[in-house]
Amino acid sequence: MNVIIFGPPGAGKGTQALNIVKKYSLYQISTGDLLRKEVKNKTVIGKHIENIISKGDFATDEIVNELIKNAIFDPLNKNKLIFDGYPRSLSQAKNLDFLLSSSNQKIDFIFFLNVKKETIIERIKKRKILEKRPDDNLTTILKRYDTYMETTKPVLDFYSKKSNFYEIDGDAKIEEISSKIDQILTV
Ligand code: AMP
Repeated sequence: MNVIIFGPPGAGKGTQALNIVKKYSLYQISTGDLLRKEVKNKTVIGKHIENIISKGDFATDEIVNELIKNAIFDPLNKNKLIFDGYPRSLSQAKNLDFLLSSSNQKIDFIFFLNVKKETIIERIKKRKILEKRPDDNLTTILKRYDTYMETTKPVLDFYSKKSNFYEIDGDAKIEEISSKIDQILTV
């Protein structure tokens, strides 16, 4: 199966993706992780996007679309993909559809973690202490939230009409969210 974990920044996408990866042996595609790796390795892309990410803006569709391509076409990952943080724009959602159909795949489950803005702010403040991400400060959190509402929310409207779309209360405890997702995946 292929899965999308969707939601605003700080919704717990990475945490839930990791649980699903462990339980169902999927391959996680986190565009945030892929981009941070580029920054860490000081690649040409990395140098270009470091400032963009730390301000809470998005990397361009071209950059992220290119980053996910190899993993999608790798036969070892076929029908074992979980997308975390991608797609974040309508153009990325269309690109994902195209790449999946070109590799004879489809999305089986879309989980939307619906979280209140106040919860996001609290969670990201905690994550800042644990992970020390430069984009986890209040100004950037608010900017990332606005970018989500503006650019990513239309993807939600597009996905919510699909029959494999599941909205989950992302304000709930981590274990409760995992168990709800599990119930749906094991039906
Ligand atoms: P995340 O780890 O998913 O919270 O992503 C961290 C940051 O990486 C985001 O705030 C964006 O700046 C950038 N990023 C991650 N995924 C994407 C994407 N699909 N499109 C554009 N930018 C992205």
